[in-house]
Amino acid sequence: MSLQKHEFKTEVKELLNLMIHSLYSHKEIFLRELISNASDAIDKARYEALTNREISETAWTIRITPDKAAGTLTISDNGIGMTHEDAVRHLGTIAHSGTTEFLALLKSRDVQEHPELIGQFGVGFYSSFMVADKVTVVSRKAGSGQTAVRWESAADGTFTIVDAERSSAGTDVVLHLREEDKKYLDEWEIRGIVRKYSDYIDYPVVMEVEREEKSEIDKDKTVKIRKDETLNSQKAIWLRDKADISDSDYNEFYKHIGHDFSDPAKVIHYKAEGTTEFTALLYLPERVPFDIFYKEFKIGPALYVKRVQIMDHCEELIPAWLRFVKGVVDSSDLPLNVSREILQNNRQVEVMKKSITKKVLDTLGEMKRDEREKYEKFHAGFGRILKEGIHFDHSRREAIAELLLFPSTKTEPGKTVTLPEYLDRMKPDQQDVYYITAPSYDEAMRSPYLEAFAKKDLEVLIMTDEVDPIIMRDLGEFKGKKLKSITRGDLALDKEEEKEKKEADQKFARLLDLMKEQLKDDVKDVRFSGRLTDSPCCLVTDENQMDPSMERIFKAMGQEVPQSKRILEMNPHHPVIEALNAAFEKNSADPALKENIALLMDQALLLSGAKPKDPTAFAKAVARLMTEQLNK
Ligand code: ADP
Repeated sequence: MSLQKHEFKTEVKELLNLMIHSLYSHKEIFLRELISNASDAIDKARYEALTNREISETAWTIRITPDKAAGTLTISDNGIGMTHEDAVRHLGTIAHSGTTEFLALLKSRDVQEHPELIGQFGVGFYSSFMVADKVTVVSRKAGSGQTAVRWESAADGTFTIVDAERSSAGTDVVLHLREEDKKYLDEWEIRGIVRKYSDYIDYPVVMEVEREEKSEIDKDKTVKIRKDETLNSQKAIWLRDKADISDSDYNEFYKHIGHDFSDPAKVIHYKAEGTTEFTALLYLPERVPFDIFYKEFKIGPALYVKRVQIMDHCEELIPAWLRFVKGVVDSSDLPLNVSREILQNNRQVEVMKKSITKKVLDTLGEMKRDEREKYEKFHAGFGRILKEGIHFDHSRREAIAELLLFPSTKTEPGKTVTLPEYLDRMKPDQQDVYYITAPSYDEAMRSPYLEAFAKKDLEVLIMTDEVDPIIMRDLGEFKGKKLKSITRGDLALDKEEEKEKKEADQKFARLLDLMKEQLKDDVKDVRFSGRLTDSPCCLVTDENQMDPSMERIFKAMGQEVPQSKRILEMNPHHPVIEALNAAFEKNSADPALKENIALLMDQALLLSGAKPKDPTAFAKAVARLMTEQLNK
């Protein structure tokens, strides 16, 4: 056959043009693409060999040959090969459905400004022209009676085809590297790229290297020898049978991909079958990454399509509130040239994300049930992130709530209780789940709000995470039981208390009016309650009002928070109330009344974790009382 000249199809011309003139970084991915093509070609040959006796099993190999003298880099395989027609068809057109999107993306400012995005796409054979000004392909189709073909192009809009010689079936892709891309002839450069992108390719990627060794004849001398080395580990660990993988295999792989030096807390390895097929090897870390709360934290497992890495982190595969999950997901259905845009609106990806989310939650549930101590450790590190799911994922609320752990007034220090466990040990006549939010466990345990609950032996959950008030509000209830903050709203724990409250309201009605009048700028109301047994008074939040801790979060996020006044609740059984009332009955204009009411208010502020309204006046009043007592 004499030399034939062909025109590239328009879209190929356009693609080549963009590749050559717009992409200057991450060019190295050309090697990933060519190795992936070679691996596909071997897959096909192996498949053919099953039924075609002219093709036999052989040592399937992908070979990389850098030739510094010629300035060429050759990627060879002993796979299926191409006929003359194959070469014209496959290396002259683009058969992908995603091409239009890809071309549009290449032209977009996004990629121009962030060329690293290119690394996430399968760009195929044509990416060779990112580093080569001329590409020669010599290929011979597998099977008897096939002749070899030579395809060649300098990306000038045309390619040539001519008969050639090749002793066996397979393909050589010869890249005539541009001067500025000659670094791809360097052994270590090549090794690095293969390790980075193609480590898990099933077939050995081999390169002949030169090494110095001690001479056999003269032990004091070294000689240069050339030998083949396999550059990839060939271990697609996630595709291997679970029974063949040891714990240490799993852990080593985790450290490699997770950039972590400690073993993971849990390994999740499963294969999803059905309409969407994929294999997932996921890890729950033990150690909290220092940057997990940073905006730049990369979310999601690596995405592979048929063992070829498409992206390091695919955030479409996992909700942000599971961002601690690391690992690999390998899809058999997605196209190799899948783009971010496609991922974002892909039904299959949606199904994968759902499956992964459920699997992770199920695994956490098992861990909580079977390995409580380990789970407690995990929760201490990652519970805060998991809780975000309650706010952002309505459908998973209850499932996530089941996984949360809280200390309570009835747990040993350092131990926790779950919501289901709390429900199980609720008092027979207890209606609601009680909780208190506080900056720390110790502060919560000292809180006056707990007095009545302690007296009645009611368990109160202690919430010290900043996000707790928000998620409790989001949840509202758990398995039909209301979640009630004990620092909010009107709280009557039983009928007896209701009665006492009413009596106190009547008995101290006039004193109450005086207090309300004096404190009208500071509190919304003054009332009696059964919340307290030892302390004289406390501040509570109205049922529909924000908790002070929630106010703090909103303020920190720069949001407007309406100035909200709290309610001053008083303990009708406290002797100070009786004394105050007696003084009031004697002389309602006694100036000591005013000072003592202010002192009560300041005490309530202190107990709620705030400062007295006027610290100087407070200190003076206390000093005066001390003097009075000591001089008695
Ligand atoms: P893709 O591999 O995604 O289909 P490419 O542009 O990389 O797209 O390759 C186009 C086609 O060229 C392939 O589908 C395949 O048919 C053929 N091809 C490329 N490289 C080889 C090879 N090493 N051996 C055999 N066929 C190849």
